[in-house]
Amino acid sequence: MKNITVLLDNGHGKETAGKRSPLWSDGTQLFEWQFNRIVATEIERRLNELGIKCIRIVPEDRDISLSERAIRANKYHAQSPCIMISVHANAGGGHGWEVWTTTRKNKSDELARCFLDVFPKIFPDKKLRGAKEKNFTVIDKTNCPCCLTENFFFDSEDECHWMMTDDAINRISELHVEAIKKYLEWTEEDRPIVAENVVEHKCNLV
Ligand SMILES: [Zn+2]
Repeated sequence: MKNITVLLDNGHGKETAGKRSPLWSDGTQLFEWQFNRIVATEIERRLNELGIKCIRIVPEDRDISLSERAIRANKYHAQSPCIMISVHANAGGGHGWEVWTTTRKNKSDELARCFLDVFPKIFPDKKLRGAKEKNFTVIDKTNCPCCLTENFFFDSEDECHWMMTDDAINRISELHVEAIKKYLEWTEEDRPIVAENVVEHKCNLV
Protein backbone atom coordinates (compact mmCIF):
# COMPACT_ATOMS: atom_id res chain seq x y z
CA MET A 1 0.00 0.00 0.00
CA LYS A 2 1.14 3.54 -0.68
CA ASN A 3 2.40 5.33 2.41
CA ILE A 4 -0.31 7.98 2.48
CA THR A 5 -2.27 9.36 5.43
CA VAL A 6 -6.00 9.95 5.01
CA LEU A 7 -7.23 13.31 6.29
CA LEU A 8 -10.95 13.36 7.05
CA ASP A 9 -12.81 16.65 7.18
CA ASN A 10 -16.38 16.64 8.49
CA GLY A 11 -18.19 19.67 7.08
CA HIS A 12 -19.87 22.45 9.11
CA GLY A 13 -20.38 22.88 12.85
CA LYS A 14 -23.07 22.67 15.45
CA GLU A 15 -23.95 26.36 15.11
CA THR A 16 -23.83 26.58 11.28
CA ALA A 17 -27.07 28.19 10.06
CA GLY A 18 -29.24 26.15 7.69
CA LYS A 19 -27.52 22.84 6.91
CA ARG A 20 -30.36 20.82 8.39
CA SER A 21 -33.39 19.00 7.06
CA PRO A 22 -36.92 20.25 7.70
CA LEU A 23 -38.52 18.88 10.85
CA TRP A 24 -40.36 15.91 9.34
CA SER A 25 -43.91 14.95 10.36
CA ASP A 26 -42.61 12.01 12.40
CA GLY A 27 -40.56 14.41 14.53
CA THR A 28 -37.17 13.49 13.07
CA GLN A 29 -34.65 15.99 11.69
CA LEU A 30 -31.16 15.60 10.26
CA PHE A 31 -28.40 18.06 11.16
CA GLU A 32 -25.65 17.99 8.56
CA TRP A 33 -22.75 18.69 10.96
CA GLN A 34 -23.82 15.70 13.04
CA PHE A 35 -24.39 13.39 10.08
CA ASN A 36 -20.97 14.28 8.63
CA ARG A 37 -19.29 13.48 11.96
CA ILE A 38 -21.10 10.15 12.36
CA VAL A 39 -19.98 9.13 8.85
CA ALA A 40 -16.39 10.34 9.42
CA THR A 41 -16.21 8.47 12.74
CA GLU A 42 -17.28 5.23 11.08
CA ILE A 43 -14.83 5.73 8.18
CA GLU A 44 -12.04 6.35 10.70
CA ARG A 45 -12.92 3.19 12.67
CA ARG A 46 -12.84 1.07 9.52
CA LEU A 47 -9.56 2.59 8.28
CA ASN A 48 -7.94 1.88 11.65
CA GLU A 49 -8.97 -1.78 11.33
CA LEU A 50 -7.28 -1.95 7.93
CA GLY A 51 -4.07 -0.33 9.14
CA ILE A 52 -4.64 2.84 7.10
CA LYS A 53 -3.44 5.99 8.85
CA CYS A 54 -6.23 8.49 9.38
CA ILE A 55 -6.40 11.96 10.94
CA ARG A 56 -9.57 13.91 11.66
CA ILE A 57 -8.73 17.53 10.87
CA VAL A 58 -11.82 18.93 12.64
CA PRO A 59 -12.33 17.14 15.96
CA GLU A 60 -14.31 20.14 17.22
CA ASP A 61 -18.13 20.28 17.13
CA ARG A 62 -18.06 24.00 16.32
CA ASP A 63 -17.57 25.24 12.78
CA ILE A 64 -14.02 25.83 11.60
CA SER A 65 -13.46 28.19 8.66
CA LEU A 66 -12.83 26.60 5.30
CA SER A 67 -9.41 28.24 4.95
CA GLU A 68 -8.42 27.02 8.45
CA ARG A 69 -9.40 23.49 7.41
CA ALA A 70 -7.09 23.79 4.39
CA ILE A 71 -4.28 25.20 6.57
CA ARG A 72 -4.57 22.20 8.91
CA ALA A 73 -4.56 19.77 5.96
CA ASN A 74 -1.52 21.45 4.41
CA LYS A 75 0.42 21.20 7.68
CA TYR A 76 -0.11 17.43 7.81
CA HIS A 77 0.68 17.04 4.11
CA ALA A 78 3.94 19.00 4.56
CA GLN A 79 5.03 16.37 7.13
CA SER A 80 4.13 13.27 5.08
CA PRO A 81 2.01 12.63 1.97
CA CYS A 82 -1.74 12.83 2.52
CA ILE A 83 -5.05 12.73 0.70
CA MET A 84 -8.11 14.51 2.06
CA ILE A 85 -11.81 13.79 1.87
CA SER A 86 -14.33 16.36 3.01
CA VAL A 87 -17.56 14.64 4.04
CA HIS A 88 -20.84 16.48 3.38
CA ALA A 89 -24.51 15.87 2.71
CA ASN A 90 -26.46 17.51 -0.08
CA ALA A 91 -29.45 19.84 -0.29
CA GLY A 92 -31.38 21.57 -3.02
CA GLY A 93 -33.84 18.81 -3.82
CA GLY A 94 -32.82 15.65 -5.59
CA HIS A 95 -31.54 12.19 -4.95
CA GLY A 96 -28.20 10.47 -5.13
CA TRP A 97 -24.51 10.87 -4.57
CA GLU A 98 -21.82 13.07 -6.08
CA VAL A 99 -18.13 13.92 -5.65
CA TRP A 100 -16.44 17.26 -6.25
CA THR A 101 -12.91 18.23 -7.25
CA THR A 102 -11.42 21.53 -8.40
CA THR A 103 -11.38 22.51 -12.07
CA ARG A 104 -7.64 21.69 -12.17
CA LYS A 105 -6.50 18.35 -13.57
CA ASN A 106 -4.49 16.51 -10.92
CA LYS A 107 -4.49 13.51 -8.59
CA SER A 108 -7.74 14.66 -7.00
CA ASP A 109 -9.45 13.50 -10.20
CA GLU A 110 -7.82 10.09 -9.75
CA LEU A 111 -9.21 9.92 -6.19
CA ALA A 112 -12.68 10.90 -7.43
CA ARG A 113 -12.43 8.19 -10.11
CA CYS A 114 -11.90 5.57 -7.38
CA PHE A 115 -15.22 6.61 -5.79
CA LEU A 116 -17.04 6.37 -9.12
CA ASP A 117 -15.56 2.92 -9.75
CA VAL A 118 -16.68 1.39 -6.44
CA PHE A 119 -20.07 3.16 -6.17
CA PRO A 120 -22.18 0.74 -8.30
CA LYS A 121 -21.03 -2.28 -6.25
CA ILE A 122 -22.07 -0.69 -2.95
CA PHE A 123 -25.09 1.27 -4.16
CA PRO A 124 -26.75 -0.66 -7.02
CA ASP A 125 -30.03 0.85 -5.79
CA LYS A 126 -28.94 4.50 -5.59
CA LYS A 127 -28.36 7.25 -8.12
CA LEU A 128 -24.77 8.16 -9.03
CA ARG A 129 -24.79 11.82 -10.04
CA GLY A 130 -21.12 11.67 -10.97
CA ALA A 131 -17.99 13.77 -10.53
CA LYS A 132 -18.37 17.52 -10.63
CA GLU A 133 -15.90 20.39 -10.57
CA LYS A 134 -15.90 23.69 -8.72
CA ASN A 135 -13.20 25.51 -6.77
CA PHE A 136 -14.82 25.28 -3.34
CA THR A 137 -12.45 26.91 -0.82
CA VAL A 138 -11.72 23.77 1.19
CA ILE A 139 -10.69 21.70 -1.83
CA ASP A 140 -9.15 24.64 -3.72
CA LYS A 141 -6.73 25.64 -0.95
CA THR A 142 -5.78 22.11 0.09
CA ASN A 143 -2.49 21.03 -1.49
CA CYS A 144 -2.87 17.25 -1.34
CA PRO A 145 -5.23 15.21 -3.56
CA CYS A 146 -8.64 16.17 -2.22
CA CYS A 147 -12.32 15.43 -2.87
CA LEU A 148 -15.56 16.63 -1.35
CA THR A 149 -18.30 14.01 -1.15
CA GLU A 150 -21.99 14.96 -1.10
CA ASN A 151 -23.60 11.97 0.54
CA PHE A 152 -27.23 12.09 -0.56
CA PHE A 153 -29.96 14.73 -0.06
CA PHE A 154 -31.20 15.55 3.41
CA ASP A 155 -33.99 17.80 2.11
CA SER A 156 -35.66 14.98 0.16
CA GLU A 157 -37.83 13.30 2.76
CA ASP A 158 -37.49 9.68 1.62
CA GLU A 159 -33.73 9.95 1.15
CA CYS A 160 -33.30 11.80 4.45
CA HIS A 161 -35.16 9.09 6.39
CA TRP A 162 -32.87 6.50 4.83
CA MET A 163 -29.77 8.61 5.66
CA MET A 164 -30.64 8.27 9.34
CA THR A 165 -30.45 4.44 9.21
CA ASP A 166 -27.51 2.15 10.01
CA ASP A 167 -27.67 0.86 6.42
CA ALA A 168 -26.90 4.34 5.09
CA ILE A 169 -24.08 5.08 7.54
CA ASN A 170 -22.53 1.65 6.93
CA ARG A 171 -22.71 1.78 3.15
CA ILE A 172 -21.59 5.44 2.86
CA SER A 173 -18.61 4.56 5.08
CA GLU A 174 -17.91 1.44 3.03
CA LEU A 175 -17.96 3.54 -0.15
CA HIS A 176 -15.30 5.88 1.23
CA VAL A 177 -13.16 3.05 2.58
CA GLU A 178 -13.31 1.04 -0.67
CA ALA A 179 -12.39 4.14 -2.71
CA ILE A 180 -9.49 4.89 -0.35
CA LYS A 181 -8.29 1.25 -0.51
CA LYS A 182 -8.30 1.43 -4.28
CA TYR A 183 -6.39 4.73 -4.37
CA LEU A 184 -3.80 3.50 -1.85
CA GLU A 185 -3.54 0.08 -3.54
CA TRP A 186 -4.30 -1.58 -0.22
CA THR A 187 -4.04 -5.39 -0.15
CA GLU A 188 -4.84 -8.05 2.47
CA GLU A 189 -1.14 -8.11 3.31
CA ASP A 190 -1.51 -4.60 4.68
CA ARG A 191 -4.07 -5.74 7.29
CA PRO A 192 -2.61 -5.42 10.79
CA ILE A 193 -2.00 -8.66 12.65
CA VAL A 194 -4.46 -8.87 15.52
CA ALA A 195 -3.47 -10.90 18.57
CA GLU A 196 -5.21 -14.27 18.93
CA ASN A 197 -7.71 -14.55 21.76
CA VAL A 198 -5.57 -14.67 24.86
CA VAL A 199 -6.48 -17.60 27.09
CA GLU A 200 -7.54 -16.30 30.44
CA HIS A 201 -4.98 -17.05 33.12
CA LYS A 202 -6.29 -19.05 36.07
CA CYS A 203 -4.38 -19.31 39.31
CA ASN A 204 -6.29 -22.34 40.61
CA LEU A 205 -5.78 -21.16 44.16
CA VAL A 206 -9.08 -22.57 45.38
ZN1 LIG B 1 -22.22 20.60 3.50
